[in-house]
Amino acid sequence: MIQVKSYAAQKEKDNLTPYNFERRDPRPHDVVIEILYCGVCHTDIHLRNNDWGISIFPMVPGHEIIGRVIAVGDHVKKFKEGDTAGVGCLVDSCRECENCDQGLEQHCLNGAVYTYSAYEKDGVTIAQGGYSTKIVVDERFVLKISDKLSPDKAAPLLCAGITTYSPLKQWGIGSNHKVAIVGLGGLGHMAVKFAVSFGADVTVLSTHSGKKEDALKLGAHNFVLTTDEEQAKAVTGKFDFILDTLSAAHDYNFYLAMLKTGGKLVCVGLPIEPINVPSLNIVFTRKCIAGSLIGGLPETQEMLDYCAEKNILADIELIPIQKIHEAYERMLNSDIKYRFVIDINSLR
Ligand code: NAP
Ligand code: ZN
Ligand code: ZN
Repeated sequence: MIQVKSYAAQKEKDNLTPYNFERRDPRPHDVVIEILYCGVCHTDIHLRNNDWGISIFPMVPGHEIIGRVIAVGDHVKKFKEGDTAGVGCLVDSCRECENCDQGLEQHCLNGAVYTYSAYEKDGVTIAQGGYSTKIVVDERFVLKISDKLSPDKAAPLLCAGITTYSPLKQWGIGSNHKVAIVGLGGLGHMAVKFAVSFGADVTVLSTHSGKKEDALKLGAHNFVLTTDEEQAKAVTGKFDFILDTLSAAHDYNFYLAMLKTGGKLVCVGLPIEPINVPSLNIVFTRKCIAGSLIGGLPETQEMLDYCAEKNILADIELIPIQKIHEAYERMLNSDIKYRFVIDINSLR
């Protein structure tokens, strides 16, 4: 077995504390990765707090993992020792259902195995995430990371990147679209970069006036402070597409009103509260509310290669693991520029 150091929550809402555990020895198709960097996603906070009632403890969070391959199983084809590799939100799936066949492993009909707060396929081992020194993953679920990408700034691409790239692609966003991104946090700032690179006219809808300058620097064309009634009213009926990344309760009708007839509101944020929308608000205007969940392995690789080609990376604050609680506090206060990334060297 492989000895691993990590930070874990032992029960819901607990602070993370040092935790040693073991990972399996590599099987023929496994890659062993020495983790260098792990991004901090708001989902880490939701799951630590058991917001959705599905959390499994002890929990080592983290699903934006980049590291160096230190060993490979006998049958591994894609990786060799010394390669830079990434692991996102998925570490396994059934690999034979209709969705897995299409590279939509996140929607595996027999249950995808998430990187943490999940049971592995054996039904007993708790999958543990990237706030740890090493991880062992089947090569199908490991991503290739181009040398062109700086690994610390690339780590957030494994969740924040693919989660925003995928719906923009799915809905064919391009130069003939007026797009709004709701919430300028980890997901939001990546969404701005992708939407701009696809040629859309991009507006950031934020609750913090202090983020205006950053939004424009990220490439957004407009900024709307949503707490300012006049600014919000001025964008009524203006957008073809809105990507909603908010982590906390909010009124979806407020954003629906900003769509053109037939516009789409696509949700990636996961507040606990239900979406409460009167049918009148979508039927009379032929509007659409949809969801989107990360992305499958082929699309994640496509996104990483696209980022290498276009030099798209996250804007990060690098922290030692010991500052994780401060980072969570700041994220809960929307005080983020724009993704925390843990330097895993601080764990060794
Ligand atoms: P984050 O970095 O904390 O950003 C969330 C942003 O939402 C904040 O920066 C803030 O933007 C806004 N916000 C927060 N609290 C708010 C409030 N009370 N009222 C209004 N706006 C508020 O979070 P993240 O990592 O981007 O994750 C965002 C959400 O997406 C989380 O719920 C997470 O679980 C979910 N998620 C979903 C997927 C998926 O596959 N669908 C993948 C990853 C994450 P402003 O300051 O600009 O208003
Ligand atoms: Zn995430
Ligand atoms: Zn499947």
